[in-house]
Amino acid sequence: MTDFTIKTDADGVAIITWDTVGKSMNVMNQQGFTDLDALIDQALADDAVKGIIITSGKEGSFAGGMDLNIIAKMKDSAGDDPARGLFDGVMAMHGVLRKIERAGMDPKTNKGGKPIAAALPGTALGIGLEIPLACHRIFAADNPKAKIGLPEIMVGIFPGAGGTTRLARKLGAMGASPLLLEGKLNDPQGAKRAGVIDEVVPADELIAAAKAWVLSSPTIVKPWDEKGYKMPGGAPYHPAGFMTFVGASAMVNGKTMGVFPAAKALLSAVYEGALVPFDTALKIEARWFTNVLMNPSSSAMIRSLFINKEALEKGANRPEAPDQKVKQVGVIGAGMMGAGIALVSALAGIKVVLIDAKQEAADKGKSYTADYMDKGIARKKVTEDKKTAVLGLINATTDYAALKDCDLIVEAVFEDTSVKADVTKKVQAVTGPDCIFATNTSTLPITELAKASNDPEKFIGIHFFSPVDKMLLVEIIKGEKTGDVAVAKALDFVRQIRKTPIVVNDARFFYANRCIIPYINEGIRMVKEGVSPALIENAAKLVGMPLGPLQLVDETSIDLGVKIAKATRAAMGDAYPDGEVDEVLFWMADQDRLGRKSNSGFYAYDDKGKRQGLWEGLAAQYPVAAEQPDLVTVQHRLLFAQVLEAVRALEEGVLEDIREGDVGAILGWGFAPWSGGPFSWLDIIGAPYAAERCDQLTEEFGDRFKTPDLLRDMADKGHEFYKRFDKSAKAA
Ligand code: NAD
Repeated sequence: MTDFTIKTDADGVAIITWDTVGKSMNVMNQQGFTDLDALIDQALADDAVKGIIITSGKEGSFAGGMDLNIIAKMKDSAGDDPARGLFDGVMAMHGVLRKIERAGMDPKTNKGGKPIAAALPGTALGIGLEIPLACHRIFAADNPKAKIGLPEIMVGIFPGAGGTTRLARKLGAMGASPLLLEGKLNDPQGAKRAGVIDEVVPADELIAAAKAWVLSSPTIVKPWDEKGYKMPGGAPYHPAGFMTFVGASAMVNGKTMGVFPAAKALLSAVYEGALVPFDTALKIEARWFTNVLMNPSSSAMIRSLFINKEALEKGANRPEAPDQKVKQVGVIGAGMMGAGIALVSALAGIKVVLIDAKQEAADKGKSYTADYMDKGIARKKVTEDKKTAVLGLINATTDYAALKDCDLIVEAVFEDTSVKADVTKKVQAVTGPDCIFATNTSTLPITELAKASNDPEKFIGIHFFSPVDKMLLVEIIKGEKTGDVAVAKALDFVRQIRKTPIVVNDARFFYANRCIIPYINEGIRMVKEGVSPALIENAAKLVGMPLGPLQLVDETSIDLGVKIAKATRAAMGDAYPDGEVDEVLFWMADQDRLGRKSNSGFYAYDDKGKRQGLWEGLAAQYPVAAEQPDLVTVQHRLLFAQVLEAVRALEEGVLEDIREGDVGAILGWGFAPWSGGPFSWLDIIGAPYAAERCDQLTEEFGDRFKTPDLLRDMADKGHEFYKRFDKSAKAA
């Protein structure tokens, strides 16, 4: 069965309808292109056809884009010469869209041809917008929920079916830049304002409007196919265009630090394409697109940020259990985390009982939601009614009896075992036998905390990251006795609040913090050694970390670092490896430089809390050595510090699924997203090289870089993580 069908009406308008079999939204694949091509040929050759409308059979949407599963594997299936195979495949796609755009016009005179309109019932993303951009006029139904745009850059590629070249020529480099470089999506009215589409009409008039236009004998030649075409805003050698390109180049490099291959390639495609005729520009776009697809970063990013993220959100690791959707959640502790958890729950329509020791504190926690909604109202994203409705879902109280009907509790009181034990008992005295109790602890072992529970099977960790409303990851931690229903409950809750879950086993610092702490520590250790703090911070950013280790510890606070260090030392005794780090950290705390919250840390801050640059006084205590290490050594120390912890977590069974390790690392602490995550990065550099590098780092810097047995074994056997451990591959 084909995804495209054609029907020509009595007026001679051929309507090509796209309706992907078995999907709620259209997605494009190779067969789809072949089918579309054949129907376009048929309609152009048919004398009875005066014009064509391309639309969708799905209510409220045109298309979600290309099937990313296919893109991620395109390189592997492109034959012995994959670059050639990919380039040829992309050019074939251009051929189909160019045929739509030229629509049978005489190449010399631009006369003749049949008008082709795109009629979008709603959402049109990626290739779902690139096809319309090749048509002669784009109509969209006035559906405010619809999203129109080219989001490819968000998953590590760029619009490679002519969208880059067409949009740049249609809007100019400046106009196209938020849409191409940031993947900005608009609703239909916004898309019209931005010049992306031509007309917004009531949904029930969509086809009629497109048809009236098709039959109106319109001019269909595109500006770039006419003599004397000039790019809006100027081509690169025009003074205004020149400024745009210089600015865009600086902006892209500033934002990406040069580590995201797609952003650079996109900019090159636009710049180089602007200097040549349209068909040559398409060829240039195809070469850059091939270049990006050949880069292992693009398939790793698609795999982690799209395919596996979605699989985890849909419950890839959910145990068999009946639906555990949360009806009423009790949040204990209305501090920074509790207030955020109450907010995201109420936003998802879940009733919340928000408890604190004092009514004032509970009310303050609830006011966090009010403030959040007020900000939305100021930005015209939220209505007063919505604010009232969301606030109406939160009952802020000190009365534990109000928890009686809750089916999930999330405890977020002080990080103190006895306070938490006390709360657990008080809660369980009022909740029913099916209620699941979750703790938001960031450091305390779940198995230990579960001892205070009357039913450890129903006790679990649900670890949010701060700030709760912004951070996308939630780490679910199973204690020794945690049962399947509790895991399912946690996963269903995370799905309701639209975050991404990973499920890990109980161990010191679970997964995310276990990997972040060595990153911070390695940075601080280098300060002690005399490595320039600027080198440490910039090395981290130049390898794609959003924050350098010193900035990160400033943000999370130095006294928290001291607290964690003391607790870890107490737990590990003589095996504690971070004495050198503590010397610096404790000294900073002694100077009352506690990080951003005290307006002083490894960085200096102004009175308003704005970061001013690295603190110069640090050098008096820890002088910068005359000889500095090279950039790659610093980067490898910072990356391996994290990645080896991830491997150990897998080796020890804390992580059960490398997909969670990769997705969790990117969403949880921003681990170099271009790499696809720690395991993807190891696959990119290869286990043999990784092991060799660890051996060198161990010799130079100490045992913390010792090659884990698992990595050594993989190096010896030439294994890759995504071949040896990919659960999705096994499931397929
Ligand atoms: P916080 O100090 O801002 O809030 C704790 C709240 O709990 C306070 O409002 C306090 O009044 C209340 N409280 C204390 N004892 C109580 C009791 N017996 N009954 C009712 N309320 C009580 O702390 P926070 O930063 O929100 O952290 C809360 C928990 O979340 C801790 O376990 C922490 O480790 C964890 N956590 C924090 C972060 C973070 O970045 N701050 C991140 C993840 C997890």
